[in-house]
Amino acid sequence: MLKAFGNICRVDRLGRIVIPVNVRRMFDLSENSPLELFVEDDKIVLKKYIPQCAFCKSSENLREYKGNHVCENCIKELSE
Ligand SMILES: [Zn+2]
Repeated sequence: MLKAFGNICRVDRLGRIVIPVNVRRMFDLSENSPLELFVEDDKIVLKKYIPQCAFCKSSENLREYKGNHVCENCIKELSE
């Protein structure tokens, strides 16, 4: 469910918006935190990007390989 924060953001001439500090703190966002952008009907949704294993969707013990994340369990299974 969408929750309004009473904030109106304006898009600047470069297409940027500012995420209010209270929202950044709530989601533990700092400079260069990755976000995923989704569009649904008339909504633009930003979601904190949490890397996941390409195979099992786990977000723990990840390693990056050629731009994809793979967890150590899957690496172990693949090598057996
Ligand atoms: Zn995995």
